Amino acid sequence: MSNESFPFEIGNFECIAVSDGTFDYPAHSFFVNAPKERLEQVLREQNIKPEVITAPWTCLFVNTGQHRVLVDTGGGAGTVPSAGKLLRNLRAAGIEPIDIDTVILTHGHPDHIGGNTDADGNPAFPNARYVMLKDEWEFWTSEPDLTQLEVEEEIKQIFLMLVRKNLPPIQGQLDLIDSETEILPGIKAIAAPGHTPGHMTLAISSGSEKLLYISDTVLHPIHLEHPDWYPVFDFVREHAMTTKRRLLDQVVTEKVLVIACHFPFPGLGHVIQKGDGWQWQPIEMTG
Ligand SMILES: [Zn+2]
Repeated sequence: MSNESFPFEIGNFECIAVSDGTFDYPAHSFFVNAPKERLEQVLREQNIKPEVITAPWTCLFVNTGQHRVLVDTGGGAGTVPSAGKLLRNLRAAGIEPIDIDTVILTHGHPDHIGGNTDADGNPAFPNARYVMLKDEWEFWTSEPDLTQLEVEEEIKQIFLMLVRKNLPPIQGQLDLIDSETEILPGIKAIAAPGHTPGHMTLAISSGSEKLLYISDTVLHPIHLEHPDWYPVFDFVREHAMTTKRRLLDQVVTEKVLVIACHFPFPGLGHVIQKGDGWQWQPIEMTG
């Protein structure tokens, strides 16, 4: 199996999980309130190095038959050496940027909007309508106060720099929506605030099949089994926790297939109930 792209189907929709690359996060940044020794033990049990979580940056391509849709644009070329591979991997799958007619942005973090523009600062997908939740766009484009985000000042400045590079230039092709909007037939926006103020997930359905693109509602499978552990990147923690419980209880009940941007590639699987939390069941890979 390629770890750069993974094709699958949802009803009549042809989908591809497309990798933009990976990024090495300090392990504590993913589980900032986890007791140190307990975290080390859990990481060891899962054969993860104690210091670093190497997390994929995965985007999603959907061909609905009528529309060619890209969900999130990765980190963009030149942002970090280990990522920025989205366009190359799309092209390898036969998809050119001009083929994309809809780009859906789940939130304003640099690993999800970094590929909005090209090296000249123009929209990288010239024929696309870019879609974002109104709350999220307004938050990031109004010089947001990131005081409550417990990351280093340098990281905050990188966030803001990449926002300035990647949001204003798409304004001419932008469609701001409210939650529960059907963006296209079979693709519906569902607000999932907390990770960012206007963080969005997507319910994608065709025929009797359904996929929930949970974006960054959960960053790592360990967050399922340890539901009280949270990452530094969640902007409003209480909202992130409430959102996580609401969405995961729903996917467990409805047995919905889930795709998560930072779970081991391709990030596709099911969630089952386990104790007070949940457990990740990645889809079985063939080939
Ligand atoms: Zn992310």
